[in-house]
Amino acid sequence: MPLQLPRAARPLYAFEHAEHADHARDDAPAAPAIEAAPSALVPAPATLDADRQAKARRYARQRHTLALVSLVLDAALIAILLFSGLSFALRDALAGAPAWEPVAGWLPARIGLYFLVIFAGAFVLGLPLSYESGFVLPHRYGLSTQSRRAWALDLLKGLAISLPFELVAVEFVYWLLAASPDAWWLWTGAAMLFVTVILANLAPILFLPLFYKLTPLPDGDVRRMALALAARAGTRVRGIYAMNMSTKTTAANAMVMGLGNTRRVVLGDTLLDRYTPDEIEVVLAHELGHQVHGDIPKLIAVQTVTTLGGLFVVNLLLHAVVARVTAYHGLADAATMPLVGAALAAFALVTLPLSNGYSRRVERQADVYALETTHKSDAFISAMTRLANQNLAELEPAWFVEFLLYNHPSTARRLALGRRYVESARRTAGDPSAVSIPSGTL
Ligand SMILES: [Zn+2]
Repeated sequence: MPLQLPRAARPLYAFEHAEHADHARDDAPAAPAIEAAPSALVPAPATLDADRQAKARRYARQRHTLALVSLVLDAALIAILLFSGLSFALRDALAGAPAWEPVAGWLPARIGLYFLVIFAGAFVLGLPLSYESGFVLPHRYGLSTQSRRAWALDLLKGLAISLPFELVAVEFVYWLLAASPDAWWLWTGAAMLFVTVILANLAPILFLPLFYKLTPLPDGDVRRMALALAARAGTRVRGIYAMNMSTKTTAANAMVMGLGNTRRVVLGDTLLDRYTPDEIEVVLAHELGHQVHGDIPKLIAVQTVTTLGGLFVVNLLLHAVVARVTAYHGLADAATMPLVGAALAAFALVTLPLSNGYSRRVERQADVYALETTHKSDAFISAMTRLANQNLAELEPAWFVEFLLYNHPSTARRLALGRRYVESARRTAGDPSAVSIPSGTL
C-alpha cells in the first residue's frame, strides 16, 4: 500500500522525478560564493539555450515513458494479486504466523508479514526502473553528480525511513478496520493530519539532514536582502539556509519548508553560486510569498480533504467487495491489502490533475508576489530562463502534460507573467507601486 510522505516543502521549481538525497558530506561549502562574489563575476542576464531545450524535450519524453512503464507494471502487479488468487494464497501461506489477536479480527503478525512480503516483492521488481529513472537518466543528461554508491546509499536510507513508518501505518489502519469498521476511514484521516503536521515540522531538522547538509547563511548580502524583504512583507524568517544540492545534482532550486518553529527558507548552493543578486532576491521573494500566503498549512489542509475523500471511496468499495466475495475473512483480512492499495492509488491518480492545478495556482500567486514586492521583472525573467537552461526544463510542454503532471506553471507561462509585469510597469511608468498583474488571466 503506497503511502505518501506529506509535502513538507514548497520548491521554487518542480522536478518531475524525485530528487533523491545522499550522505551528509563534510566538505559542504561553508559559505555560498555569492556572499563574497565581486560584481565582475556576476553572470549576465540569461538567454534561452536552444540546444538545452532540445535536450530538455528528449529528457522529458524519456522520463514520461519510464513513468508510464512503471505505472503499467504497478497496475499489472496489483491486478495479478487481486484476480489470480495470489493474495489469498499468500494470506493462507502466512497462517502459520502467530495468531495473536489483541482486537477481534486484527492479527498484527499476519498483517505485518503480508505487508513485508508485498513491499519486498514490489521493491525488487521496481528496482530496475528506479535505477533507470533515478540514476541512469539524470547521468545521461548531466544532471546528477552522484556516484552509484551514493545513489544506492540514498535509496537504502529512504527505505530505512519509509519502511518502519509504512509498517506502523498499515498496522494502525488494520487495527481500525477491525475495531471500528464503519468509522475507520475518518480516524485514519484524522491520524494522517496529525502525523503530517508533526512530519512537516520535523522534516527540516530530522529527515532532510540525513540527505543534505543545511548551513545557516552567514551574515552577508543575501542574508541582509532576505531579512529586508521579510521585514517589508511583515513576516518573520526563522532561518535562511544554504543546502549542498551540488553533492547530488547540477540543477538549482530553492524552497520553503517546516512548520512553526522549524519554518525556513532554503537556497540550493547550485543557485547561490550562479545567480545574480537580483535573481536571488526574486527567488527569495517567491519563497517569502509562500510564507506570507501560508501555503504549507493550506496544502496540508487540501491534502487532508483529498485523503479523506479517497479513504471514503475505499471504505465503500471494501464493504461492497468483502460482502460479496466470501474468500475475504473480513475487512481486516490481510488479503484486502491489494484492494485498499489499488483503490487509494486509483483515487490519487484521478485527483492528481486537481491537486496539481491547485499547486500551480499557489505557485503563480508566489510569482506574482515576487514581482510585486521586488519590481524586478527583468531579474525574474532572467532567473526563470537560467533555471530552464540549468535544470533542463521544457519551456512549453504539451498542454495535457502540464495539466496532468506539472505542479508548477511551465517556464513559458512564468516568463509570460514576467513580461506582462514589464508591460504593466511601462504603462504606469514612474509609479512602480501602482503596477499589478490582473489575476486569472494566464
Ligand atoms: Zn514556489
